Amino acid sequence: MPTSAAERKRKSREHMAALKAREKAEKLRLRKKKSREHAKKSSEKAENQTLKRKERDETNRIKRQQPTISEEQFLSQAMKEQVIKNFELAMKLIKHKHCTSCKMVSLTMEMSNIPNICKECHSKKCTEDYWLDNNMLPVWYDENNQVHYERPKCLKNLYDAEKMLIQ
Ligand SMILES: [Zn+2]
Repeated sequence: MPTSAAERKRKSREHMAALKAREKAEKLRLRKKKSREHAKKSSEKAENQTLKRKERDETNRIKRQQPTISEEQFLSQAMKEQVIKNFELAMKLIKHKHCTSCKMVSLTMEMSNIPNICKECHSKKCTEDYWLDNNMLPVWYDENNQVHYERPKCLKNLYDAEKMLIQ
């Protein structure tokens, strides 16, 4: 059967269209495959990151629980008790020292050879009443001319600013 030129042309066009359609379908299939692979990869990556984070958190938690010094490096129970006892004894031995001349009271006062006289008063050769006689102490006298070193009752409720004015 002879085929006309127009029919050959039409067949060729149809063939070309079919080829193009197949090519398009193939491209679409490849694109879908790529996108599936990409989704799979990103989900794997996210899963990996979650795992790593969990692992890191667990390591940090364990690190926090561990003491910074090992048991061997630290004092034993008996040694700890001894250290505390020594400290308590040292605290019991601390006593206030009082100088009868300058009337000072202190934990760190250095005392002279003379009982109850501090080194400073001793070096200045102060007598017991030297500070009082020279009006160098904040004292007051009652009606019986008795000296008082404590704060008078009427001045006990002062504000800080008022106390500072007196000092
Ligand atoms: Zn003194």
